[in-house]
Amino acid sequence: MSKPINIVGGGVAGLSLGIALRNQDVPVTLYEALSYPRHRVCGEFICGVSDATLENLGIKKLLADCGRLLDTAWYRGNAHVGTFQLPKPAIAISRYAMDQRLADQFVALGGNLRTNERVSEEVFSNKGWVRASGRRKSNKREWIGLKAHFTGLETTEDLELHIGSAGYVGMSKVENGCTNVSGLFKLNKNCKGQKRELLLSYLRASGLDSLADRLAVADMDAESFCGVTALDFKRYFNSADEFCLGDAQGMICPYTGNGMSIALESAELATEPLMRYAEGVLNWTQAIREYNREASHKFAGRLRASTQLHPFIYQKPFNQLSEGLVKLNLLPFRLIYQLTH
Ligand SMILES: Cc1cc2nc3c(=O)[nH]c(=O)nc-3n(C[C@H](O)[C@H](O)[C@H](O)COP(=O)(O)OP(=O)(O)OC[C@H]3O[C@@H](n4cnc5c(N)ncnc54)[C@H](O)[C@@H]3O)c2cc1C
Repeated sequence: MSKPINIVGGGVAGLSLGIALRNQDVPVTLYEALSYPRHRVCGEFICGVSDATLENLGIKKLLADCGRLLDTAWYRGNAHVGTFQLPKPAIAISRYAMDQRLADQFVALGGNLRTNERVSEEVFSNKGWVRASGRRKSNKREWIGLKAHFTGLETTEDLELHIGSAGYVGMSKVENGCTNVSGLFKLNKNCKGQKRELLLSYLRASGLDSLADRLAVADMDAESFCGVTALDFKRYFNSADEFCLGDAQGMICPYTGNGMSIALESAELATEPLMRYAEGVLNWTQAIREYNREASHKFAGRLRASTQLHPFIYQKPFNQLSEGLVKLNLLPFRLIYQLTH
């Protein structure tokens, strides 16, 4: 008889872990504060995840029909800087579709999904409770993330990355002919307005006027607009009494497109120690310790590198340097990719 596992948070990490555990007949209850489907702030491309991870989690087929992104066009301000091919294709899917698909699969496998239930933080130190509740809230409000879907908006390559003076934006096709536009900006009190106006205001404040002009005339799905602030890029691997995965253990900077991959990889890593806990082979402290050791080995380097490189992505000296490197055909994209994936 298996011990039950409770998961708090039905995002990518929590749902994929729930599916993997249900595939092993572990009883799982998953608590999600919201319901499905729902839009989330996200670039909506999964960059870096391996087929083996998707297979091990039991979700490869769920993503088989998604678009694949390979060529990325980089812009600095209003100028095209260069194109870069990702070492392997990224998976394109909206969070609206992805989280719904994962939730349906979890329920189909007999998982107990309790939506619209926000669980208090006190449970995170209980045995058998997993914290997959997403990013931690920072006390400093330094960043704002905004996202919306547009129709009738063509991208020059599979993925466009626009780097401005106070933030950056990713743009790529998701399903149903929609293009997702998602940006991370330095919070700016002078940027005001509702939905599209707010996004355009942040784009213009970052010197991304050409992109703002394109978005001003494209059809925006107002329902899809969402925003987040108080982002925290610290790492939380070493908690001895909490089993944390996905963004709850540390959020990688969004320019990498690797956050969902980390959520999936961490769910994959967590499956074995949790199964052994459920079978009574490991106690809770041992399961946490085993997971933390592996997770810190696998993710700490990329989280650190992404945070250290983050300021350079949008700061002028880096951009001037990258323009020089473009002329010499020595763009640092591949190196940045290797350090952060
Ligand atoms: C601007 C921006 C762009 C991004 N772009 C990309 C990208 O292109 N590609 C990529 O891979 N990643 C991207 N990311 C990161 C990616 O969104 C996250 O890494 C990923 O969502 C992490 O998954 P998660 O399951 O850990 O957390 P989440 O997806 O945030 O899920 C956590 C869930 O927990 C629920 N929850 C929270 N607290 C409670 C509670 N107390 N009780 C019950 N439920 C609770 C929430 O409602 C949520 O559903 C981006 C992030 C930002 C901010």
